[in-house]
Amino acid sequence: MSKITDIDLGGWEMVIGLEVHAQVSSASKLFSGASAAFGGKPNNHVSIVDAAMPGMLPILNEAALRCAVQTGLALKAKINTYSVFARKNYFYADLPQGYQISQYEFPIVGEGTIEITLDDGSTRTIGIERLHLEQDAGKSMHDQHPQYSFIDLNRSGVPLMEIVSKPDVRSAFEATAYVRKLANILDYIGACDVNMSQGSLRTDINLSLRRPGAEFGTRTETKNLNSLKAIRQAIEVEAWRQKVVLESGGTIDQETRLFDPVKFETRSLRSKEDAHDYRYFPDPDLLPVVISEDWIAKIQSSLPELPDQKIARFQQEFGLSAYDADVLVADQAAANFFEVVCASTTPKIAANWVIVELFGRLNKTDLSISDSPVSAQGLAELLALLEKDTISGRTAKDVLDTMFSTGKSATEIVKKQGLEQVSDTSAIGAIIDEVIASNPGQVQQFRDGNERLLGWFVGQVMRQSGGKANPSIVNQLLKQNL
Ligand code: ADP
Ligand code: MG
Repeated sequence: MSKITDIDLGGWEMVIGLEVHAQVSSASKLFSGASAAFGGKPNNHVSIVDAAMPGMLPILNEAALRCAVQTGLALKAKINTYSVFARKNYFYADLPQGYQISQYEFPIVGEGTIEITLDDGSTRTIGIERLHLEQDAGKSMHDQHPQYSFIDLNRSGVPLMEIVSKPDVRSAFEATAYVRKLANILDYIGACDVNMSQGSLRTDINLSLRRPGAEFGTRTETKNLNSLKAIRQAIEVEAWRQKVVLESGGTIDQETRLFDPVKFETRSLRSKEDAHDYRYFPDPDLLPVVISEDWIAKIQSSLPELPDQKIARFQQEFGLSAYDADVLVADQAAANFFEVVCASTTPKIAANWVIVELFGRLNKTDLSISDSPVSAQGLAELLALLEKDTISGRTAKDVLDTMFSTGKSATEIVKKQGLEQVSDTSAIGAIIDEVIASNPGQVQQFRDGNERLLGWFVGQVMRQSGGKANPSIVNQLLKQNL
């Protein structure tokens, strides 16, 4: 939760609604058995349905439907037992059917909510308008040949969930917090791999400005943002553009825009269609989808622990702060890692070492927690040595560095390098005697009342012990002997 300062719009308030397209984690497409995997040789994941051969018949993928219901339940949303697939008609080269099969009047999921955490630690509820299932389109490639454009239909028919928020979002910070939380929830239930850079989670931003308390203004829609950074930048750039237009007496056109991260501007793509431009009508090739309350209840009872529940449990069970719990839960792999470490360590210490020491080293080496060279058991072993006072905190950090670079275990490194902390009073006493004997001047000054020299003596003894003496014992013995 790094601090993001929202731009000052001089009295204008942003009104934002987000449409997120999340690719459903499913082996096959929404209405065919072709592979829905990312990549692949162009046009190799295409069935006659995805290529829209005349007479083809779509068949609904039950796994995709189940994912949509799961997601709806995780968003505390109303699940509709009756929903309808509709044709959204438009022409585009990468849309061979001439229409997209989507849901319009009767989506599978109705109203729900997402809780976001604000900068000051408080929470806000953002309303969900609906969630519906739809097919993705193919891809036009304009950079393969000087004269021709090519079409790759591998994505054609890939199942997407479109999750539409209410216009409840009021800042770029809230927008990124919303998308992060939504991605977090989708990751926990396994409904989407939430890989934004591969296009598994794409966000459209609907944004308008108003004076606080006034009616909503006209909105623009900025399409297809692929990272949290792009979402934040596009919002700030578009809000600023609208402010300038409005303050110079102009009006905002309802239109679809594109964000250019290089020129740092949004550009008009097309004036916004209204729903009637698409001539929506129920797809006659598909029956209405009727699901039972029983099936919904079964899916509900099989939902895993969700992020908000885990945050609450980490605070109650382990006594973590809201901040620590939030940071750990924001990454499912990190939360699981922490729980393993925690099983054999004091939770507060485990949280600290995972968040500060482990995350710090992972960030530096640009690794995710799933690629961590130190396993959860490995870190737990290191922290056990620390808690038993076998090694000092300082040494433990060095050992973690070595574990990171060599993959060796903490016990092995400590043994091999002889790093065990010395708590044996006679061994420490011997070093102290030596330091006192060879520094008579400093001893005299200390005895004359310069107590600040104690720190200097501690440093001498620690150095002579190779950093291995237990500092609290050194302190205690030095005071006695001086
Ligand atoms: P469309 O079908 O044209 O995309 P919707 O009614 O589904 O329109 O709304 C799309 C998104 O726009 C929703 O997320 C909604 O919250 C948001 N929205 C609606 N009105 C406004 C507005 N005046 N300013 C900002 N966002 C808005
Ligand atoms: Mg829309």
